[in-house]
Amino acid sequence: MSQSFLDQCRALLGEAHVLHEEADMAPFLRDWRGRFTGRALAVLRPGSVEEVAAVVRSCAAARIPIVPQGGNTGLVLGSVPDASGKSIVLSLARLNKVRQVDAVNRTMTVDAGCILQQVQETAAAQGCLFPLSLAAEGSCTIGGNLSTNAGGTAVLRYGNTRELCLGLEVVTPQGEIWNGLRGLRKDNTGYDLRDLFIGAEGTLGIITGAVLKLYPQPEASITALVALASPHNALRLLSLMQDRCGASLTGFELMSAFCLQLVAKHFPALPQPFPPAHAQYVLLELSSSESEAHAVSLLEGAVGAALDAGIAEDAAVAASVAQSLALWQLREHIPLAQAADGKNIKHDISLPVSRIAEFIEHTGPLLQQAFPGCQLVCFGHLGDGNLHFNVAPPPGIGNEEFLANQDAVNRVVHDNVVAFNGSISAEHGIGALKRDELARYKPPVELSMMRAIKAALDPLGIMNPGKILG
Ligand code: FAD
Repeated sequence: MSQSFLDQCRALLGEAHVLHEEADMAPFLRDWRGRFTGRALAVLRPGSVEEVAAVVRSCAAARIPIVPQGGNTGLVLGSVPDASGKSIVLSLARLNKVRQVDAVNRTMTVDAGCILQQVQETAAAQGCLFPLSLAAEGSCTIGGNLSTNAGGTAVLRYGNTRELCLGLEVVTPQGEIWNGLRGLRKDNTGYDLRDLFIGAEGTLGIITGAVLKLYPQPEASITALVALASPHNALRLLSLMQDRCGASLTGFELMSAFCLQLVAKHFPALPQPFPPAHAQYVLLELSSSESEAHAVSLLEGAVGAALDAGIAEDAAVAASVAQSLALWQLREHIPLAQAADGKNIKHDISLPVSRIAEFIEHTGPLLQQAFPGCQLVCFGHLGDGNLHFNVAPPPGIGNEEFLANQDAVNRVVHDNVVAFNGSISAEHGIGALKRDELARYKPPVELSMMRAIKAALDPLGIMNPGKILG
């Protein structure tokens, strides 16, 4: 059976695009962080929307599960198959063309396999901005960004990927092609199917194309690092910046002192503007559609007001693009420094912005009580209410010994997230990794609506089974 299915795929896609040797499949089966390696019947690499649809029809006929894959940079084991070896991985990598740029509508229509950086560069070449930006942008794809509703560093100003999308093309689990590439900013014609597929992590269908929103390129962007005494002061700074700078505020990233200590330990060549004397740091970014002078005066005025009001303890405003990049490097090296330091228990959570400080100050001590000496690596997109609230072992305790506490640590963190009306997954999704946590915390009525949608669109259950829902 599997042989005749593979022969059918070869006839549809050509021999070169049906990978089934272990060595050829290996990069598609291992997750980004190297925590899990699945098995698959084959990796299929269609080159057109019609080929995607034909493959899906063959899979449906043979009841073969499909794991859609873009850049395989997802962090929740959504893009890799399970260990059964019964699924195929359907790679969208060959669907990588920019189909159209409409400068007047301010949209770009792209294949789902386009790399995010390619989309950013195409927009820039047209004098426009595609604002989605995240550290995996050199390898992640638009289809993966949409399927995880990725966030990144500019959500405060431009929103998540969902807000950046005006239309989708999708191959349904039956192998039909739905062309919803309308590019409309207003369209109230019934249920919003586009929003259903965004964030669905490949469990409802395969995104093959998208209409993306473009924005004007800012004339200037400027960055500052501000030192503060507490997360409460970070929230006061956020309010002050929003009041004074409005939509010009494009980034607001919190980093605890321990995060910057880790960066200093593992990347000593990266310059840090302050001695390690402050409890918290905020990386601010402001963009101006007028001029660099406007951006500088707006930022300096706001930061000066924060210092005068005792909200900030110190501040360094970048005087050049190179200095801005150096400040961003500090933020971007936190995950790398964490990895270099050993393993930790990761949480990607969101909270109402107004409750973030209270959450940190409540949950940190609870973790200390339960796991004395544990080290909190707390950083994230504070302006969006999104924290990476990671818990590292106490000094002297081995990684594996500490990781054995994962469930108990999750219970402390996630119980409190829910008590503070937050979410256990802000931007990475659920995949297979957080499926049990979702089942634990989602209200039954929400879960049963999600199951009903899944059963209606994918009655055979072939689309990325075991992801999001059990
Ligand atoms: P994949 O990993 O291939 O897939 C992700 C999920 O989408 C899987 O469930 C897969 O089945 C599904 N999928 C993929 N393509 C399709 C498609 N065409 N149709 C249907 N389903 C599909 N995320 C953030 O939100 N913000 C960040 O700041 C951020 N930073 C990151 C930094 C690094 C270094 C890394 C490695 C990851 C980061 N992520 C971040 C995680 C983020 O989800 C991914 O980087 C990205 O959005 C996934 O795109 P991808 O093409 O790699 O998707």
